[in-house]
Amino acid sequence: TMAAFPPPIKNPEIKYTKLFINNEFVDAKDGSTFPTENPATGEEICQVSEAKAADVDAAVAAARKAFQPGSEWRKMEPKKRGVLLNKLADLMERDYQYLASLESLDGGKVYTQTCGLDIRISIDGLRYFAGWADKDHGKTMPMENGYFAYTRHEPIGVCGAIIPWNVPLVMFCWKLGPCVSMGNVLVLKPAELTPLTALYMASLIKEAGFPPGVVNVIPGFGKTAGSPLSRHMDVDKIAFTGSTLVGRQIQKDSAETNLKRVTLELGGKSPNIVFADADMDYAVKMAHDSVFMNAGQICCAGTRTFVHEDIYDEFVKRSVERAKQGRIGEPSDLEVEHGPQITKLQKDKILKYLEGGVKQGCKIECGGGEVKGKGHFVQPTVLTNLTDDMTVSKEEIFGPVQQIYKFKDVSEVLKRANNTKYGLAAAVFTNDINKAMAISNGVEAGTVWVNCYFKMEPSYPFGGYKESGIGREQGEYVLHEYTEVKTVVMKIDPIKNK
Ligand code: NAD
Repeated sequence: TMAAFPPPIKNPEIKYTKLFINNEFVDAKDGSTFPTENPATGEEICQVSEAKAADVDAAVAAARKAFQPGSEWRKMEPKKRGVLLNKLADLMERDYQYLASLESLDGGKVYTQTCGLDIRISIDGLRYFAGWADKDHGKTMPMENGYFAYTRHEPIGVCGAIIPWNVPLVMFCWKLGPCVSMGNVLVLKPAELTPLTALYMASLIKEAGFPPGVVNVIPGFGKTAGSPLSRHMDVDKIAFTGSTLVGRQIQKDSAETNLKRVTLELGGKSPNIVFADADMDYAVKMAHDSVFMNAGQICCAGTRTFVHEDIYDEFVKRSVERAKQGRIGEPSDLEVEHGPQITKLQKDKILKYLEGGVKQGCKIECGGGEVKGKGHFVQPTVLTNLTDDMTVSKEEIFGPVQQIYKFKDVSEVLKRANNTKYGLAAAVFTNDINKAMAISNGVEAGTVWVNCYFKMEPSYPFGGYKESGIGREQGEYVLHEYTEVKTVVMKIDPIKNK
């Protein structure tokens, strides 16, 4: 399948490093910049303009202006918004190789995975929401007692988006697609660790022909750019993806300011349940991929692998063999499976979790340490001898660490799978329809995969139960998150002069 991708560009040229406001690239008002680094080497790639409160104000003002009644954007026919989104998707196809290379460089993401998954998902999503632009509309209520009523689905207005570093392009497109499809305008703050593809996308947005101010991209830090955005009195909605800790803060910010609408996509500790009748080779492979993809930095990773006691020992043995196989290294190398963690801080956090886990009694079957040398690499690690109350069983490690638990029966494993504050995803591997139904109905998670993992389509809604989030992204369901419903009630006078 590798041949299906254009080869990576080594050292892709960095074309855009400034804030994108009103379709122009501009310096931060106070001239601040910050470095973005290559996680595979720890070296600085370039300096990027750093947005602060005054720049957030400027971006919100540009968005508000673009949203004024009578503006080009407000007068545009809905289907034309779809045309613009499709045009943007076309430009991404044109620049596929460059975008994938840049994403891989800035995020330390394995190039083959970036091509096969990230870029594909991003483009497909834009095309899907292009299609919705003229298809989401209101209802008419039957005429009753002389009254006729109908609903209009109207855009909410100025939407803020704050996104994480683990899948930057996917997050950019998941926010952008439904937002502009429904006629809103956007101020997006990319993660401070991965601003580069968002800025390149900004240039494509201009090239595609979006009117000035409809999409604004302002790199910066959480406290000094994210917070002014989530607390802004002239922002009507915030869509956030990131940690549960910050998600909670965003919700508070909304409550303390203008009650802007909030949707949250947060962390996870997703269970993956393997029954004894499952195809062992396939289940081992899928369980492995569900954890180790993107160096374990995926919100819906299947970090808690529950394996039936009858096959437990053999499953662990094969999982360890598999974990030892993958090559670790430079993400642009087509043979490499495991790239680096995003920062030294994240690497150290993961190593600390492992240390704590061992203290609490878990066993490291393989890996367990860093890879010495340049960059922030952690060895693929498999843990056993775990109990459900250990810190590593409860908290999101966000690294290449598979935890394998033993279980006896359906009711026990369901209870344990649900014994978490999170509820983002879950999976079950079995050929027994009754087991598959018992788990998929009983598990508290926004997505359940049966005999598969990470299967995503733009039409599949995605989001969390419990502390994994509020609201849904993707699919028809997300349209409600980007529209207000207006009910229009008309009193119809009978015609007097019959
Ligand atoms: P994070 O919460 O630290 O940061 C996410 C974004 O929030 C960044 O852009 C950051 O600058 C910003 N931010 C930080 N503090 C802020 C504040 N006080 N106000 C406003 N914005 C602020 O998360 P992260 O470390 O970048 O990403 C990892 C987390 O994201 C993990 O928990 C992962 O599970 C989660 N995640 C969830 C999904 C999902 O769809 N549910 C997808 C990807 C990642």
